[in-house]
Amino acid sequence: MTRYLGVTDLQRLLGEIGAPTMLADLAGFIHQDFLRWQSFQKSARTANHSPEGVIELMPASDDTLFAFKYVNGHPRNPLQQLPTVMAFGVLAEVATGYPLLLSELTITTALRTAATSVLAARRLARADSRSMALIGNGAQSEFQAIAFMDALGIREIRAYDVDREATDKLIANLAPHIRAGRLQVVAANSVRDAVAGADIVTTLTADKSRATILTDDMIAPGMHLNAVGGDCPGKTELDARILERATVVVEFEPQTRVEGELQQMRADFRVVELWQVLQGLKSGRTDAREITVFDSVGFALEDFSALRYLLQRASAMNIGRQLEIVPRLHDPKDLYGHAMGTAPSLAITE
Ligand code: NAD
Repeated sequence: MTRYLGVTDLQRLLGEIGAPTMLADLAGFIHQDFLRWQSFQKSARTANHSPEGVIELMPASDDTLFAFKYVNGHPRNPLQQLPTVMAFGVLAEVATGYPLLLSELTITTALRTAATSVLAARRLARADSRSMALIGNGAQSEFQAIAFMDALGIREIRAYDVDREATDKLIANLAPHIRAGRLQVVAANSVRDAVAGADIVTTLTADKSRATILTDDMIAPGMHLNAVGGDCPGKTELDARILERATVVVEFEPQTRVEGELQQMRADFRVVELWQVLQGLKSGRTDAREITVFDSVGFALEDFSALRYLLQRASAMNIGRQLEIVPRLHDPKDLYGHAMGTAPSLAITE
């Protein structure tokens, strides 16, 4: 049988484990898998584009487990009460192809994206970073704010969104941390206002047109840019001149060349892959005045790690239910008899 984790199961896991621990656990799982990058079969995701958005499939596997995620990106979805990004995924056994887990991945994507941002920022941001501009205050924003507060010691968020209600929602959701004195959140009047004086700038905007959220003159020496929102062809957030004077780290170069900020650069523009930094083969930040960019687009291995984590935790905590997503055949060759209800089924073992 296949374990199924729906949205309420994920809420239960998150409630029992706690967001800070879950973000740290996910960062740990992603880190472990990036340390064995060479053991994975990897490919850029396949993307089907339409005028409204994109629908993508993201596979990754090692010798024992295969994972894929279905995910979309439709920036105008919130006008129809739907999230911009929605996702689910499967983890299967490589030896047989049997699906072990079918899970919601909308909430999990926000968690794993923030966890990956933190992994990159630990190597790329200045260790004394305390303030972060957060441009785009939609669905992903709280996850990033909490991850950076807990893992990097960020104490001030400078928030900006073209939609003031989104910023108000972010501030309301962060209120417990503000009241506890762990975090200060300032609503900025513009991108420039938010970025001025920040140590880290996280961009999380959703727009299908080529946008320049950050211009070169806004970026001061020593800043780390966590560029998360530009993640598909024609969807960018940074002025190309910023990349020219920065150290740029990506997840999987063949995919980022097509989808990331990197799509604006010539094919010979040099980047470093995150696994190379994590494995110590390439350096991250080397001096306090360097500008660093994590050109995040989201890579299948992060979802592989997240699904692996979810299966482990949900099994241990007995969360979720068993689904008969493939038939349990008494005679594996008698699919017809099973379909017609004339052949016996196997007893449920799990
Ligand atoms: P969302 O639609 O919930 O929020 C996006 C916010 O950006 C909205 O509040 C919108 O008003 C704001 N915005 C749009 N244009 C802006 C501008 N010019 N200046 C300031 N704010 C602006 O979307 P989300 O789920 O939070 O996702 C944000 C982006 O991150 C999307 O583009 C999504 O595809 C991307 N994303 C990337 C990854 C990754 O792994 N890299 C993972 C998840 C989502």
